Amino acid sequence: MEKTLPPLTPGTLYLVATPIGNLEDITLRAIRVLRECDVVAAEDTRRTGQLLKHFEISKPLLSYFQFNEAKRSEEILERLKRGEKVALVTDAGTPGISDPGERVVRAAVGAGLRVESVPGACALVAALTASGLPTDEFHFIGFLPHKSGQRRKALEALKTFAGTLALYESPYRIEKLLGELGEVFPDRTIVLARELTKKFEEFLRGTPAELLALVAKRALKGEFVVLVSGKAVAESDAADEGESSAGGVVCN
Ligand code: SAM
Repeated sequence: MEKTLPPLTPGTLYLVATPIGNLEDITLRAIRVLRECDVVAAEDTRRTGQLLKHFEISKPLLSYFQFNEAKRSEEILERLKRGEKVALVTDAGTPGISDPGERVVRAAVGAGLRVESVPGACALVAALTASGLPTDEFHFIGFLPHKSGQRRKALEALKTFAGTLALYESPYRIEKLLGELGEVFPDRTIVLARELTKKFEEFLRGTPAELLALVAKRALKGEFVVLVSGKAVAESDAADEGESSAGGVVCN
């Protein structure tokens, strides 16, 4: 464990993870980097402004989001070359994971500039590790495409993957996704990790059909990570005759 805290390194891009719901999930290092950097590049300056205010940090903000990534990447690179310390944050979680950030990181690495990760909350990791599904091998898909044909194709392509599958999905498409999972993976265990780190956090476990039946009775709101047990788990479950569960959704 480091005892003395060195100052931030000039000309470094700091990727700072922020909470995904629970403000206690910010790290001490994240707070220090946000306090000591020259500028914070944010996906949504209003939202990040609120976060900074909560931690009593006042810092110039630079808007950095999907549609101005190219232009802003150049500007961030110029700042780094001048020796500035730039912190990049997104609305929640780890920058670059289904969030803007990848482009500027690639550009900075390509230009020989220093990039440092300031790790913290990430919905994928929080969901996977508490899901009860294997964590040794997993495939992160992020958001599926919007078009039905492309979604189906993407899921079909993962049918033979042995590890756990992890997806992000908007609450408006959860029912649609469960229907699609029912067609492609009818016998797999699905884990819906809902509202992670927040007051109404819960894990719902069942087959796609069982979860669809639940959604029909109870509107599920909030944010979701969806996990699908891998082919290997599905096969060993099927082989475990006599140990089959009574069926139905399991929540905690
Ligand atoms: N970069 C973020 C991370 O590190 O997890 C993910 C950003 S992505 C734009 C937002 C998606 O992440 C949401 O649609 C949802 O699928 C998932 N997510 C974020 N926060 C969550 C939470 N508290 N509970 C469940 N899922 C969450």
